[in-house]
Amino acid sequence: MSDEFLNTIEKALQQLSAEETKANLGDRKTYVGASDIGQCPRKAVLAKIDPKPGNLVSLLHTMRGHLAETILTKAFAKAGFNFTSQEEIAYEEDGVPRKVHLDYLFLSAQSIRFLDLKSPSFDIPEFPYDSWELQIYDQLKAVKRKYPDRDIQGALLGFQFGDHGLKFWNGYDRVPEAFAEQLAARARVVWEATVREDPDGVPSEPSPLCSYCDYIRGCPAFQGTEVPELEKTLADYRLYKDQHAILKKDIDRIRDEVLYLVSLTGRPLTAGNFVAKASRRSRTATDWQRLEAFLEEHGSNLSAFQARGCEYQVLDVKEITT
Ligand code: SF4
Repeated sequence: MSDEFLNTIEKALQQLSAEETKANLGDRKTYVGASDIGQCPRKAVLAKIDPKPGNLVSLLHTMRGHLAETILTKAFAKAGFNFTSQEEIAYEEDGVPRKVHLDYLFLSAQSIRFLDLKSPSFDIPEFPYDSWELQIYDQLKAVKRKYPDRDIQGALLGFQFGDHGLKFWNGYDRVPEAFAEQLAARARVVWEATVREDPDGVPSEPSPLCSYCDYIRGCPAFQGTEVPELEKTLADYRLYKDQHAILKKDIDRIRDEVLYLVSLTGRPLTAGNFVAKASRRSRTATDWQRLEAFLEEHGSNLSAFQARGCEYQVLDVKEITT
């Protein structure tokens, strides 16, 4: 009964998602969109030539983005902003049909501001991911083509249904040269493979989003040496990581509850063999907003000082369920 119930929800969400995609984005096989530029090229091509209905987890993941948009739209309307949402800009570039859809566009006689909304399930990063920046630069390129005489600036807004809330990155007003070449090249790769209906040779770009990818089976990025003996070890690793995440949440919850109680009395609390005491420690933090304002006053901006950190190893173990 419960499986049947969940299956019914999954089917309904699949239909809903297909209808919404068709209504908002049209036939995605006929153009290359900004989201195609910002994601793994192999996935972008396969999603066009071999669309999948998606499983419950990936559908909920997508729907969460729509929900964030609904909340934000209401907030903008309440704040009295003059804006449009899902504005489409279509153009052709070197024979590649291009379309971008802007989450939010704020228009005035002289200036244009646009916003791209990101709603990750994981923590919001300190700096935007490369894939997010590729997408916003691609949007910026399209907006500049359509409104060549206006003062244009794009921004990214991270929206997380969790402890992180909102995070805003502003100031995308120029497409750096290195990005410009990359955008055009990525669009061409995706378009040519879409036309020939064959993803062969299209690069795979693994990321945490591979967990939700319908095309992970057969993906060259995950073709490895077969070691069947490792299955239990890898299953344990996944299990412990999941348990670790749950434990961390529980620890944080209990810490907040006890801290609250200690702060009410202002004194340590004892219970059986335990004593709970709160103390304050300080750490130095940078006021990024003030620093950004200072740099802008002096003709610069934060991104001019942002550098990639040193490399470190990451073990990524995914379970193939599709
Ligand atoms: S599994 Fe990851 S790398 Fe492979 S196609 Fe999907 S998104 Fe791209």
